[in-house]
Amino acid sequence: MGMGKRMSMIPNTPRLGMLIVVSGPSGTGKTTLCRKVCDGSSSVFSVSCTTRPPRPGEVDGKDYFFLDEADFLARVDRGELFEYARVHNRWYGTLKSYVFDNLRRGVDVFMDIDVQGATQVRGCEDDLVRHCLTDIFVMPPSLNELRNRLSGRGTDSAEVVELRMVNAEAEMKHWRDYRYCLISDTRESDEAKFRTLIEAERLRSSLYLELA
Ligand code: 5GP
Repeated sequence: MGMGKRMSMIPNTPRLGMLIVVSGPSGTGKTTLCRKVCDGSSSVFSVSCTTRPPRPGEVDGKDYFFLDEADFLARVDRGELFEYARVHNRWYGTLKSYVFDNLRRGVDVFMDIDVQGATQVRGCEDDLVRHCLTDIFVMPPSLNELRNRLSGRGTDSAEVVELRMVNAEAEMKHWRDYRYCLISDTRESDEAKFRTLIEAERLRSSLYLELA
C-alpha cells in the first residue's frame, strides 16, 4: 500500500451525531431523561408530531407539534416522516429532515418513541442511520410502581391511566429488541446511568465514518 493510500491512524473527520432511540412505557421518566441530557446545541431532543391534544402546560413546537389528523396524514403522504405509529389511539411521528440534518452536522439526536417506531428506525437501510443508531429500553421497577407514577402525574383520567397500563405491558415484551435496558430506580440514579451510557456511546468508532 503506497503512502498516499495509507489509512489515517487518527480519525480526521468530525464525528457524526448519534441517534439515540429511547423507548419504554410512559411513566418511566424517559422523556425527562432525554430532555435532561440534551443541551440544545451538541445534542437535541427530537420534537415529535402528534394528533393527541396537549396536556396542561405543554407547548406547541417544544413538547410536540400538535397537528390535526388530516395534516398529520398529509405529511405521511409527502414522505416527511422518518417513522410514525399509532399509540394510545393517536398518531405520533418523527420529522425526517430534523433527524438527518442534525446527525450530519454531528449533533446527537434523542428520540423518545414507542416500540413500533423503534422497529422502523432499526429497519432503516440508510447508511447514516445504521452507523449512528443506539437504542435503550427504560423499564419500570414494577407494574405497581408504574401505576403509582402514572396516577401521581395527575394529568390523565383513570381511563387513560388504565389504557396506558395495558399498553405498558405490551411494550415491555419488546425490551430484548434493544441493546441497552435501564431499569428505572430513583431519578438521580437513572440520570447518572443514562449519562454514563451516552458518554461511552459517543466514543464509538462507527461515528467517524467518512460519508461518500
Ligand atoms: P405521550 O402521549 O405520553 O407524550 O407519549 C405516548 C407514547 O408515544 C410514548 O411512549 C412516546 O415514546 C411515544 N411517542 C412520542 N413521540 C413519538 C414519535 O414520534 N413516534 C413514535 N413512534 N412514538 C412516539
